[in-house]
Amino acid sequence: MECKCPSCHSLLIKKNGHIHNGKQNHRCLKCGRQFVLEPAQKIIDDRTKDLIRRVLLERISLEGVCRAFEVSMPWLLEFIDTLIKELPEDLKAEVVSEDDDSAVIIFEAENKTEVCK
Ligand SMILES: [Zn+2]
Repeated sequence: MECKCPSCHSLLIKKNGHIHNGKQNHRCLKCGRQFVLEPAQKIIDDRTKDLIRRVLLERISLEGVCRAFEVSMPWLLEFIDTLIKELPEDLKAEVVSEDDDSAVIIFEAENKTEVCK
């Protein structure tokens, strides 16, 4: 991932410890701006998406998926949302919209259709 200052676009970046949530903090040596590179801006390729899709079937917590694939939670939730929209209408009825477990339920439903084919 290219490490660039969001202010002056300088590439002279120094690592500057970690912020409260453990993300790498950076400091621009040119303008002095401190910033954290957002994993959400990273382009996640289809292969990674496919792997995440499969890992989601394994009852691994969403936090775990984020850590393992270095994706952000907002990205993951949006990705899951995209997958849900791809599901046939009748399966959407099984979605329980409560906390993180909803993702697991949805993917199990999706898996069942594949088995039935
Ligand atoms: Zn800068």
